[in-house]
Amino acid sequence: MGFQTDAVHAGQKPEPLSGAITIPIYQTSTYHQEELGKHKGYEYGRTHNPTREAMEKNIATLEKGKYGIAYSSGLSSVQALMGLLKQGDHVVISNNVYGGTYRQLELNMTNYGLSFSWVDTSDLKNIEDAIKENTKMVFIETPTNPMLNLTDIKGTVEIAKKNNLISVVDNTFMSPYFQNPLILGADVVLHSTTKYINGHCDVVGGILITNNEKIHERLRYLQNAIGAVPSPFDCWLTLRSTKTLALRMKQHNENAIKIAEYLESQSYAERVIYPGLKSHPQHELAKKQMTGFGGMISVDFGTFEKAKKVLNRVKIFALAESLGGVESLICHPASMTHAAVPKEEREKIGITDSLVRFSVGIEDAEDLIADIELALK
Ligand SMILES: *Cc1c(COP(=O)(O)O)cnc(C)c1O
Repeated sequence: MGFQTDAVHAGQKPEPLSGAITIPIYQTSTYHQEELGKHKGYEYGRTHNPTREAMEKNIATLEKGKYGIAYSSGLSSVQALMGLLKQGDHVVISNNVYGGTYRQLELNMTNYGLSFSWVDTSDLKNIEDAIKENTKMVFIETPTNPMLNLTDIKGTVEIAKKNNLISVVDNTFMSPYFQNPLILGADVVLHSTTKYINGHCDVVGGILITNNEKIHERLRYLQNAIGAVPSPFDCWLTLRSTKTLALRMKQHNENAIKIAEYLESQSYAERVIYPGLKSHPQHELAKKQMTGFGGMISVDFGTFEKAKKVLNRVKIFALAESLGGVESLICHPASMTHAAVPKEEREKIGITDSLVRFSVGIEDAEDLIADIELALK
């Protein structure tokens, strides 16, 4: 089936009691058992929930995977992933991942005997060079947040296979509509469903998707064992959202291209970073492994004063953390999303105090451009 057909139907059948077209919110913590040892496969709400199962199946299908294992946030799915490893294991990971991922892994998981090499994975040689005897996983985020650096997924997977490593791709920025790492051979895809998949700034959630039976078994076990599961209502909202994912992504993409081109054609910015621009150093790779460029744009305005002016003056773009919603957002990574990353590390990867990140929504592009123009003048 095509993406949009799957988006509307995958994982969902009319509900058997009444024939309701929309899967109900199974707001229950437990299930009645007919007699001792005889039940319908549902025993307890943390372990099983029909609304959650429908959402998991739906997103897994869109990501071209067999199994989806949902968690209560993107970061709890990062945490669950670490359950694939043991004390003493080492991970090679992109040095410019989501700030919270860095915090969770480098500042917490290192206390439990895991170690991480933070490398610029946009150069595959850096991945190869960082592999040690105890390396068990390679974790990439592409494009990265907020620098929008790309990593060659296929190349990464080849290195992982050669060295017997689990390959993980955080695909939050592209959504399953524009990029499918499992097709390129990755073992696990991670999404913060908070972002594009839910897309309406009203749910925090995460999901891991895999085709690997053994990995699925372990992650399913951890979902129940850790217990960081999403609520039935959040699952229902997310499932409702995936139905329009394709439509939203097309609009995010179209608007972002217009805004990036506008900003590049003006002299306001020192540097406009967007994978869809020819000036992006990895534009060719973007065209190769993605089918669109997404809705995220980062702009270096040269000075903090200028950046502050834009951040404080825009009216349609809301100053807020997060991204991927239908409403346009603007943020200052250095003091907001990436404040947990030490300043020295931040500057090394380009997160200067003059960098502004735009999450372009689905409003009218002309209005969004006028909003930025007015703020700059
Ligand atoms: C937001 C985000 C996360 C973390 O997800 P939460 O749902 O906020 O816990 C992980 N990776 C990326 C790329 C993100 O943007």
